[in-house]
Amino acid sequence: MKSAKAMGELALIERIRSGWGQTAGGGPSSDYLALGIGDDCAILRPPRGHEILVTTDFSLEGRHFRRDWHPAESVGHRAMARGLSDLAAMGARPLAAFLSLALPAEMLATHKGRTWAARFFAGLGGLAAQFRVPLAGGDTAESPDGLVLADIVLVGSAPAGRALRRSGASAGELLYVTGALGGAAAELNALTAGGKRQPTLSSKAGKDGPPGSIAGSDEGLVAHPQLYPQPRLAVGQALLRRRLATSAIDLSDGLSTDLSHLCRESHVGAQIDAAALPIHPLARRAPQPMHLALDGGEDYELLFAAPPSMRIPRSIAGVPITRIGRLTLGAGITLVDNAGRERPLKPGGWEHFAKKSQ
Ligand SMILES: [Mg+2]
Repeated sequence: MKSAKAMGELALIERIRSGWGQTAGGGPSSDYLALGIGDDCAILRPPRGHEILVTTDFSLEGRHFRRDWHPAESVGHRAMARGLSDLAAMGARPLAAFLSLALPAEMLATHKGRTWAARFFAGLGGLAAQFRVPLAGGDTAESPDGLVLADIVLVGSAPAGRALRRSGASAGELLYVTGALGGAAAELNALTAGGKRQPTLSSKAGKDGPPGSIAGSDEGLVAHPQLYPQPRLAVGQALLRRRLATSAIDLSDGLSTDLSHLCRESHVGAQIDAAALPIHPLARRAPQPMHLALDGGEDYELLFAAPPSMRIPRSIAGVPITRIGRLTLGAGITLVDNAGRERPLKPGGWEHFAKKSQ
């Protein structure tokens, strides 16, 4: 006989399966998924001539999100966005997602109406459906400490030998970013300042779905960069397909930190033009726009390098592309201000959320 807990888990898995079928448009059918949820393993069928790329990301309550700041849909959306953004950074196409989820006992129980878990999967599934990524497996368990813990694995593919790496850049190349910077940190600061009240989502898509672009503002920018970041898969794939970039990384920890990763792997330095940085409208209205743009994390935009001879479009797949600086010989990163003064730019990224949430 099964325990109530086990029944709760089975019910949850069944709901994931049926819920996913609805959001993904009729089940986990994909050219690349031979077998999905329901057997001991999933079976993937990668495109011919492709290599497999795998990325895994924790979403831990209190570290990566807070239930009183992030609606359940946002937690699910962000978990999927983090994995997809890593695939985007390497120019990969997603094949399948796998999720391991530990929930407090009360959240495993089946209730009438919408549970936190159901809303979490609505957020996760909404973004997955947008990019046609099937949920091909996972695991659920009761969380021992009352906290939500999620680990997502994204599997993608790229033509053999072609994936964009952090290590491919050279001194003299130019640096570009997609979209705008600092929005996610600005919105998080606003949520923090707003106390424990969960934000009300004003979205055309309804409270379950992510909002679209900011009305009347720059194209390609999302209205809730912290709650519903948009992974730049189409841009990453275009950079690879059109051979525009020599290297790339996604901005999960903040420009100053992620740029230092790219520089270290490529054995170069960098110079950033402060005046060129595309600062998100939410950050521009905040007290320290430049700090948010340089050090605010979780924008999930792409940073990439290209030779000066390469013509980079002003936008790719509807997302603005901005030149922000260049790569230099040596190891340091400097910031050049409007007056032409240079100062060292230290990696100042994304450690503060954990401290804030204590
Ligand atoms: Mg990354």
